[in-house]
Amino acid sequence: EGTISTATFAAWLREYARLVGENESVLTDLDAAIGDADHGANMTRGMAAVVAYLDGLGGDDALAEVSPATMLGKAGMTLVSTVGGASGPLYGTFLMRTGQACGDAPELDATTLATALRAGIEGVQARGKATTGEKTMLDALVPAVEAFDGGQGDLVAALDAATSAADAGRDATTDLTATKGRASYLGERSVGHQDPGATSAALLIAALHTAVAQ
Ligand code: ADP
Ligand code: MG
Ligand code: MG
Repeated sequence: EGTISTATFAAWLREYARLVGENESVLTDLDAAIGDADHGANMTRGMAAVVAYLDGLGGDDALAEVSPATMLGKAGMTLVSTVGGASGPLYGTFLMRTGQACGDAPELDATTLATALRAGIEGVQARGKATTGEKTMLDALVPAVEAFDGGQGDLVAALDAATSAADAGRDATTDLTATKGRASYLGERSVGHQDPGATSAALLIAALHTAVAQ
C-alpha cells in the first residue's frame, strides 16, 4: 500500500472494463434518453480492446517491465482507436495525459497520482472544450480529483473521498442542462436525465478505488 505500480493501474483498467460490462445497459439507457443510445456499447467495446492489450502484455512480472506512462498511453490510444463516439477520444486523452504526467516513475504515491490525474482532466477539458456544469463526464471527474487532492498522502482515504465526490457529481448532472455533446441538441429537455458519461466516469473512479484497496 501507499504506492501504485503498473500492475495496479492494469488492475484499475480491468476492473473498469468489468464495471462497464456490468453496467452496459444502464449506460445505453441513459444515452437513449439524451443521446444516441450507444454509450454502453462504446465503452464495452473500448474497454474490451484495452483488456486485450493488457492480456497481450502478460502477468505482473511482465507489467513490472513496463512503465505506468507507457501502459496508460497505449491503453488510451486503444480507446481512441476503437471507440467512434465522443467518449473514446475523451477517455483516451484522459489516460494518455495521466500517463504522460507519470513521467518515467515506476510507481506513484498519492501526491504524484493526484498531479497525474489532474493532468488527465486538463487533457479532457482541452480536447472537449468543456468545463464543469455542462452535464458531461467532467462533472464526475473534476470533483473526484479535487477530493482526491484533499486526501493528503493516504491513498485509500483519498480514493474514498474521490469515489463519493464522483458519485455526487454524477447525481448532480440530472438537474443540469447539457451544453456539450449530443445531449446539448436537446437543450432544456436534457434536464431530468443523468448524464451517461458522468455515470461511466463515476465507475472509472470506483474502479481505481477497488484496484488500490485490493
Ligand atoms: P456520442 O455522444 O458520440 O455518441 P458517447 O455516447 O459514447 O458518445 O458518450 C457521450 C458522453 O460523452 C456524454 O454523456 C458526455 O458525458 C461525454 N461528452 C460529450 N461531449 C463532451 C465534451 N465536449 N467534453 C466532455 N465530455 C463530453
Ligand atoms: Mg452516444
Ligand atoms: Mg454515438
